[in-house]
Formats: sequence, C-alpha cells, structure tokens
Amino acid sequence: METKIIDGKKIANEIKKELKEKVIKLKEKNIIPTLAVVLVGKDEASKVYVSNKKKACDYIGIRSLSYELPEDTTEEQLLDLMNELNEREDVHGILVQLPLPNGINEEKVIQAIDPKKDVDGFHPQSVGALSIGHKGFVSCTPSGIIELLKRSNITIEGKECVVVGRSNIVGKPMALLLLRENGTITVCHSRTKDLKEVTKRADILVAAIGKPKFITKEYIKEGAVIIDVGIHRQENKKLCGDVDFDDCIDKVSGITPVPGGVGPMTIAMLMNNCVESAESLA
Ligand code: NDP
Repeated sequence: METKIIDGKKIANEIKKELKEKVIKLKEKNIIPTLAVVLVGKDEASKVYVSNKKKACDYIGIRSLSYELPEDTTEEQLLDLMNELNEREDVHGILVQLPLPNGINEEKVIQAIDPKKDVDGFHPQSVGALSIGHKGFVSCTPSGIIELLKRSNITIEGKECVVVGRSNIVGKPMALLLLRENGTITVCHSRTKDLKEVTKRADILVAAIGKPKFITKEYIKEGAVIIDVGIHRQENKKLCGDVDFDDCIDKVSGITPVPGGVGPMTIAMLMNNCVESAESLA
C-alpha cells in the first residue's frame, strides 16, 4: 500500500501565506492585527514556544506585543494585565503561555481573558460554544488537525474516528470537532479497557496520550489514517511522537510525522484565530 505522509509543515506554510494576504488587506484599512503574548517565569520550553509564535507573527505581519514577566509575578498583577489588554482596542488576541508558575491559578487567568480575544480557545465560554455548535475560538491543535485532514482530502464524514486522550486542550475538543464534521467518535483514556480493540476500529486515529511511541502497528487497522499529537524529546535529542512511526508506516494510508506534522499546524491556527479576531473586531 502506498503510504501518504501528511506534511503538516507544508500545509501550515500554505495557511501562513494565505494569512499574509489577509493581513495586507487589513493593513490597507489601517487595521494592524495584534497579538499580546504573555510569558511568566523562566520555563525553557515555554520560551521556545513563545519565540516560535512570535516568529510566525513576524512572517505574517501580525504585530506581537511581548510581556515577559518575572517568576514572582502575582496572580493579581496578571489579572490586572488581562483587564488592561481586554480594554485595549488595538489588541485582537491574548495568549498566556501555560504552564504558569505555582501560586497562580491558571483557570482564573484564562477566565479573565475576553472571549472575543481568546485566540487559544481555552476560555470556558469558547469551549461551551464549541460543544453546542456556536461561533467561538477553538483550541488550535485540534482545529489544526481538522484543517490538516481537509487539506489532505481525507473525508471525516461517516468515518470511525478514535481519539486517545481526553485533555481539555486536545482530546475533548478534538472529539467535538470530529463530531461536527460528522465522524463517528470514540474517546479513549487511561481507564479504557482493551484499548487495542478500540483503536483497531479506527479509520482515523488521533493519538494525544503523552507517551512516546505508545501506538504501534498492533493498535491500528490496515489503511487507517494516523494523526500523532505527541511531542517528546528522546535521549538522542531527536523528537518523536505518541506513535511509533517506523513500526506503523507500512500499515497506514496516511500518517503525520513528528516533527513536521501537527506541531506547525497548531501555530498556523493560532495565527488564523488572531487574524479572524482582527477582522471581526474591525
Ligand atoms: P495530557 O497529559 O493532558 O492527556 C493525556 C491523555 O492521555 C489523558 O486523557 C490520559 O487519560 C490519556 N492516557 C494516558 N495514558 C494512557 C494509556 N495508557 N492509555 C490510554 N490513554 C492514556 O496531554 P495533552 O492532551 O496535553 O497532550 C498530549 C500530547 O500531545 C503530549 O505529548 C503533548 O506534549 C502533546 N501536545 C502537542 C501539541 C502540538 O502542538 N503538537 C499541543 C498540545 C499537546 P486520563 O484522562 O484517564 O488520565
């Protein structure tokens, strides 16, 4: 069977080019899409993520406002900053890089973001809107996966879709989005019995488990499409996903690599949300 590697990097670049055009049009109307990026503390991984997001902003022409706050920032100071950014008419998106240092209640901070500027889609109002099919921002990793499937001409409607993982930022919104696209959805988690029996039913399998190379060929059906959300740094410093790519590749009809699969799409969708916000608040 010919295997199709789903090139997330290429598709993300296409999306970013389209966004660049949209930003040019917005700027002709004197609207400069602006993303406020808030980083608290010194978490090294968070610094890398924030820097990648800022680079994407620069490429597309989105203005990024950087708030790099010290580790000892208080919850109250952060909530004040959220209020200030909510009020500012020239700010279209607010991104608070998680995790926040101990002592700051993440839920409280997320809830303080105006849902109209919640480009990460983590606010309870955004999550509620997704679950009842209303308009609102959707978490970027799952929405990026839907875009990846659509742009790779993979039909979701009527397919058996199995999502392994039920986190608020990946698994649950993923299931809701696949449902919205008329897939038949099963969500698995650490208490699922006979996981292999369930995953082997999948036409489309999304692995968001957080365990390196967990999904091997025994977990998949011949010809399935495999979407690997996981990102892990191995001992040899190379990245790998939740799927054992080399073990599965001969059995699948499509698979996302790590790196270069889901990761770049997450950033592209964040940029997309920011441009949409600027368009709607304009
Ligand atoms: P979480 O740790 O929040 O969730 C993991 C989920 O997997 C949980 O629902 C857990 O079940 C389930 N799980 C764990 N072990 C098993 C098992 N043995 N069998 C079945 N289910 C299991 O992770 P996230 O959703 O935040 O992230 C998942 C992965 O994706 C991580 O590797 C993360 O780094 C990566 N990631 C990548 C992004 C990207 O842009 N590419 C963005 C976000 C995350 P239970 O609920 O029962 O505990």
